[in-house]
Amino acid sequence: MSDLGTRTPTDIDTELAGYYAERTALQQKLDAREKELARMRREPRYYSANSIPSYEEAIEKLEQELDAVRAKELPLEAEWQRRQWTRAFIVTNVGGHVHRTLACSTTFPTTSWEWLPQYSGHDEAEIVDAAGVLSCTVCYPSAPSDSLNRPSSIVTRDKAERDARRAAREKAAAEKAAKKAAKTVRHPDGLPTYGTYGYEADNVTSVTSGSVQMIVDILDDAATQKKGGYPYDGTEGERAEQQQRKKAAIAGNLRTNLEALAHFHDTTVEVQEDLIREKGLAKYIKDYSWNEDMTAHQEELKTLRAKKRDRKRAAGK
Ligand SMILES: [Zn+2]
Repeated sequence: MSDLGTRTPTDIDTELAGYYAERTALQQKLDAREKELARMRREPRYYSANSIPSYEEAIEKLEQELDAVRAKELPLEAEWQRRQWTRAFIVTNVGGHVHRTLACSTTFPTTSWEWLPQYSGHDEAEIVDAAGVLSCTVCYPSAPSDSLNRPSSIVTRDKAERDARRAAREKAAAEKAAKKAAKTVRHPDGLPTYGTYGYEADNVTSVTSGSVQMIVDILDDAATQKKGGYPYDGTEGERAEQQQRKKAAIAGNLRTNLEALAHFHDTTVEVQEDLIREKGLAKYIKDYSWNEDMTAHQEELKTLRAKKRDRKRAAGK
């Protein structure tokens, strides 16, 4: 006992809270078994002959386990009887109150409790202050009304875990959104931007590759036309007009993309135009079959690369 006398209320009650939880779980199992056993005795014909003895045995074993837990609680409870420190308990259902005793008249034998050993031995005023609106007014009749109007800073373990999980989810979602926002291209006038195949897109990678692809399409289109690949162009009124409209649309989308990319990279539209055209030319020269304009394209690519080097030098990179 001498060693118990030097232990803090929180220390002793933390141990007791563990036994209490253990005992509650055992009691629930025991109740279920006893209910089942009562049914067996009422309707024995539905059960095999050895069911009843095996249930009786299980119940006896649970009772022994309960006794063992109670035996561990006893000296600790005796120490509390001797010193009588303050205690706080919370009812675990949503909005459950904080009470000074498990014997509170407002609760029931079936009430589910959690101990709050961190408050053991603390001033009741402090406990009421922390429990706020959840303070039981029977247990704490002198709780000041301004305390009772405040939200509780005491929560059940369950709620604390739920809150922590929700906070973690929200944090992950915010990080994901920030990451996405960091890669999102926005046109300064809110115009839509385009990825590959002409679909609307706002991810910087899609908008960049979409723009490069538009350059490639424009170059390829010019070559096809030069070869006479579009015999109807300019000769068959309607289809030529369609062709023109398509070209104008690509040029317009490309322009919007370049403006948005310039805004995103904080450069000028001209710089973006050079960079994208450089990529488009490189891809076209590499992937498309040779034609009479390729030499000119290679010259242009060289010029653009030289310009880029100059810009980098000027920027001191
Ligand atoms: Zn109470």
